[in-house]
Amino acid sequence: MIQLQNLSKVYSNDAGQFWALKDVNLSIHKGEFVAVIGKSGSGKSTLLHLLAGIDSPTNGSITVGGKKISSFPQNLITKWRCRETGIVFQSFFLLQTLTLLENVMLPMEFSRFLTRRKRKERALSLLKDVDLLHKANHFPDSVSGGEQQRCAIARALANDAPLILADEPTGNLDSENAEHIFSLFKNLAAQGKTIVMVTHDTDFSQRVDRSLLVKDGQISDIYFTNEKVGQI
Ligand code: ADP
Ligand code: ADP
Repeated sequence: MIQLQNLSKVYSNDAGQFWALKDVNLSIHKGEFVAVIGKSGSGKSTLLHLLAGIDSPTNGSITVGGKKISSFPQNLITKWRCRETGIVFQSFFLLQTLTLLENVMLPMEFSRFLTRRKRKERALSLLKDVDLLHKANHFPDSVSGGEQQRCAIARALANDAPLILADEPTGNLDSENAEHIFSLFKNLAAQGKTIVMVTHDTDFSQRVDRSLLVKDGQISDIYFTNEKVGQI
């Protein structure tokens, strides 16, 4: 599903150059649920931004579902992102002038396949999945941070994208809600969606298919299946 080859990202500023990612080679399979772990500043968000095509690599290539997205021009990458990815950001980026329901309907707005009625039905069903049906007509500023996060998760699932990218999706949630979202992701992975989730939660990072430890811009795998348990 995802192939990273010799991927590097260099940020330049007055102090010089900083290698946020250094020569990363990595494959992620379809239907794999991957956690990205590591200290603050290690390069986790940079990796997620590159996978989403929000930022472009300094060197190397990114192939997703057979498409070399690192070579796409800007207009194509935006279309690709809308169709092929569902993204949960650390800051939720909900539109404040829309209700929670309307926020979740938004990614489906350009769908040629769904009528407005179907879009609304699907959005309501997703809000139900994240236990927010009762707040469907509220505006983001009138619900809690955790509720906004759950709404952002529902929105990321709205377009039924094969790839879900999530930056600390359970960071603002209490343990019960966090567990609920984690199981939702587990089910999606079981249905064949590929999930890449940055997390600081050591429990969750051991219950996924694989954890990727990011350290100083480099990545090592930690497997949690079979005999590879706990090995770096
Ligand atoms: P993490 O998500 O693991 O906390 P990031 O990927 O956000 O790490 O950042 C990795 C490193 O790159 C950090 O040292 C950060 O300061 C630096 N960095 C991130 N974005 C920029 C930027 N736009 N300009 C310069 N440095 C950046
Ligand atoms: P990192 O990727 O290392 O967690 P960031 O620089 O991306 O660091 O974020 C800095 C901190 O701000 C993080 O601890 C993150 O959880 C927090 N944060 C980011 N966005 C929000 C938000 N909208 N509300 C509350 N906390 C946030």
